Amino acid sequence: MVTGEPERVLDPVGRFNRRRVIDTLRIAGRMARVELTAATGLSPATVTAITAELLRAGVIEETAAEPALEGAEEVEVRRGRPRVALQLRPDAAYVAGVKISMHQIAVTVTNFTGDLLGSEIIEARASRRPAAEVADWLETALRQGVASAGVRLSDIQGVGMALPGFIDGEAGVCHWSPVFEEPLTPFAELMSVRLGRPVFIDNDANLATLAEQWFGAGKGIPNFVVVTIEHGVGMGAVIGGRLLRGARGFGAEFGHTKIQRSGALCRCGQRGCIEAYLADYAILREASTRAPVEGVSDPVLAHQAWRRLLEAAHAGDMGMREIYARAGEILGVGLANLINVFGPELVTLTGAGVAASPFFEPAMREALALNTLSASADQAPVIIRPNADSVWAHGAAALVLERLDFPLAS
Ligand SMILES: [Zn+2]
Repeated sequence: MVTGEPERVLDPVGRFNRRRVIDTLRIAGRMARVELTAATGLSPATVTAITAELLRAGVIEETAAEPALEGAEEVEVRRGRPRVALQLRPDAAYVAGVKISMHQIAVTVTNFTGDLLGSEIIEARASRRPAAEVADWLETALRQGVASAGVRLSDIQGVGMALPGFIDGEAGVCHWSPVFEEPLTPFAELMSVRLGRPVFIDNDANLATLAEQWFGAGKGIPNFVVVTIEHGVGMGAVIGGRLLRGARGFGAEFGHTKIQRSGALCRCGQRGCIEAYLADYAILREASTRAPVEGVSDPVLAHQAWRRLLEAAHAGDMGMREIYARAGEILGVGLANLINVFGPELVTLTGAGVAASPFFEPAMREALALNTLSASADQAPVIIRPNADSVWAHGAAALVLERLDFPLAS
């Protein structure tokens, strides 16, 4: 342990400034001290002290700076003072991110700069299961993912977990999730005790949003919204560069905003919610009014049935195409409400449900154009993003990188 550590733990300003230096370097890639001072707004003395501490701790390293101007490096070298820049050390820490869906668990392992080192997906039937059973699958998936990345579990500085449902990330408590039998689960602590590593949990749509902010289409955009279409319909919003969290730490529950009075029954128990028309269970329910759909009570079989319905639409099944078009219209109205409220610079759609976008997108865009205030319509492009659970798990790893403090715990 580095001398002075107890003081630093009690020093929130120092911690905040250290975080600022690390985040600035992460975004920039590399920076000279003078540029770091300008970018963070900290004093030169503070930047010198923090960078010296981070160099000692092995968190950052010195490297040759890229020449700021053509020929500038030559001049500096002639003077005998090559420009020195600072960058994060990729191997300063390793973290893992996990996405728990009802039919599978995805794991990614990254280094300190967020580069993917390995990922793994295992099948799971995580639908209203005891937390201890879900924890078993998670541990198996995590051990496989860590091994495939060539690191040891004991090298992992923390694990981020993306869960569907109402999650209080600060408290590490799951208030309700379709994966658990228990209504209230202190899941972060349960997993942390089991793995012997720090564990952070959050709502999965929030972590899909963090993935967009760190690695995807939201990079460098201060105001954007991500809508996720899966077993439920979720949402994350970055406002002024920060992920929006309600007073109870929950994410934004776009899927349960009402779109139709006394409409379709939602799994939340209320009626007319957006997800009651759009989520996979809603599509299966609609399809089953035309012909029986097998296996809907089993999450893996239900996912397979959902894929078969999509294939039927591709094969020209007009009834299925109508169901998707109806869902698209509902989504378009919902997105227009979101754009009218938040005025984001970008809206992205992701999740397994975007595989059906060839059938819902035209109706979605029509409803969007009809219901968005004209001034905001041009300024908020809605883009459909390719989806993979490993991307969400990458966002869960970013949650850990966001919260790591140095020196690291062993
Ligand atoms: Zn609902």
